[in-house]
Amino acid sequence: MTITQSDIAARQQHVEAVRAWVKVAIEDGWEQKPTYKGESVERAATLHKEGFMAMAIMREPMGATGRQTGNRYPNAALNVWGPDKMAVKSTLPYDWEGLMCALHACQFCGKVFEGKAYHVKFADRACQTCGPVEQSKLPPNWAD
Ligand SMILES: [Zn+2]
Repeated sequence: MTITQSDIAARQQHVEAVRAWVKVAIEDGWEQKPTYKGESVERAATLHKEGFMAMAIMREPMGATGRQTGNRYPNAALNVWGPDKMAVKSTLPYDWEGLMCALHACQFCGKVFEGKAYHVKFADRACQTCGPVEQSKLPPNWAD
């Protein structure tokens, strides 16, 4: 895969968007901790609020000290899990209401649903329609 200048610019924008998410989240009461020993919280952070957990990756090739720190290109990711330990879809910018709504959004069809969420694979959240369908696609004895 060839990485172009515009890919790098897009990756850098993603790093900045995730960093902005974290900043607003902390202002909104999330507690921040480093994800990894030996990597600064500015690059990899784990955040908690009201049972939600978020993991943010905000890695840039140049560290604050100006020295090269491993990865060649900017690298960002934001993953959020709900109090039920299932993944919730996060948005950039930060949106607390959106996270609450995402507790009832199916990751397969996108529908917002009432009642119990189906747990598929590691942490995928499915509605009552998609849940049994997605579970039936898994190999036998998957995770149970
Ligand atoms: Zn669904």
